[in-house]
Amino acid sequence: MEKGIIETILNKRPLIISGPCSAETEDQVLQTASGLAQTGKVDILRAGIWKPRTRPGSFEGIGTKGLPWLQQVKKYIGLPSAVEVATSRQVQDAMHFDIDLLWIGARTTVNPFSVQEIADALKGSDIPVFIKNPINPDLELWTGAVERIAKAGIKTIGLIHRGFSSYGNTEYRNAPMWHLAIEMKRRHPELTMICDPSHICGNRSTIPGIVQKAVDLNYDGLIIESHINPDEAWSDAKQQITPENLLELLNSITWRFETTSETEFQTALVTLREQINQVDDELLLLLGRRMKISEQIGLYKKDNNITILQTNRWNEILEKALSKGKQFELSREFITKYLEAIHLESIQHQNRVMNKLK
Ligand code: PEP
Ligand code: MN
Repeated sequence: MEKGIIETILNKRPLIISGPCSAETEDQVLQTASGLAQTGKVDILRAGIWKPRTRPGSFEGIGTKGLPWLQQVKKYIGLPSAVEVATSRQVQDAMHFDIDLLWIGARTTVNPFSVQEIADALKGSDIPVFIKNPINPDLELWTGAVERIAKAGIKTIGLIHRGFSSYGNTEYRNAPMWHLAIEMKRRHPELTMICDPSHICGNRSTIPGIVQKAVDLNYDGLIIESHINPDEAWSDAKQQITPENLLELLNSITWRFETTSETEFQTALVTLREQINQVDDELLLLLGRRMKISEQIGLYKKDNNITILQTNRWNEILEKALSKGKQFELSREFITKYLEAIHLESIQHQNRVMNKLK
């Protein structure tokens, strides 16, 4: 597709990219694309051609053989296409078959060697490239990938927020950690940023909530996995939805895209409130952890017959916090009240473990 047309498509808001996790067969690709085109809401077809799988033996992608299917989609259905690339060979193959947009997967963004290899292969081309966040919560790696691709001369770069792996996380396949994406957008306000709820959620049921949140946070668009027959998908079956479900989902969302100053203000407010919520969650998590450590200390004190309250230690904590608090412009009064409350709760936790009957 002509460069100008792709640019116009990429500037549409909300930008909607959808399609199967993996291209499997020509029929599956064409049928899914045709369902998506019928929704009237999808701008670009995504399809994984080479799949980075955590364990060997699962479906590792149809490979170059699937690229002509995407040409068919463009010719007969009119949708441009996007594929994931991880090596220079894949970049060359994708460009040879006129793919319109490339994306770098989360497992590739973590590796500067791979990102540089892709950047080198891209030199001299003007294909748009979207970069997923790395699997680990490290904004420097994400920024580094943006810089490498930009240095190769790519002018149109986008960001895809697909969540971060975290040990023992159960609610989401990849924890969204919204504050990191917000910070990335703050660092690179000129880059289009879209959300990938499919890989954040890992299942169908939680997708709508994540999509609404991304819309509330003023993301530029979405990349959502869809499949003509999700339950039979060769990869990521649990998180894919049918084109009809995609339409229902997009219709159920409250969009906040008007650009009056009033809504801009509302969006800014929602963004800031979201940051506050995130920080509050983290504070509670840390407080919970602090109490667990107190309980462990309680057990030691119990075994060694030491009293709970140790004045010296407490004064030391207070002094430290007062001087640190000053650095962050936190008043003496606040720090004192805050620490008293923590201290009280901590003593209660220690009490509980020390007086528990064996
Ligand atoms: C994908 O988009 O199918 C994919 C492999 O995603 P991620 O790189 O986010 O894991
Ligand atoms: Mn997938």
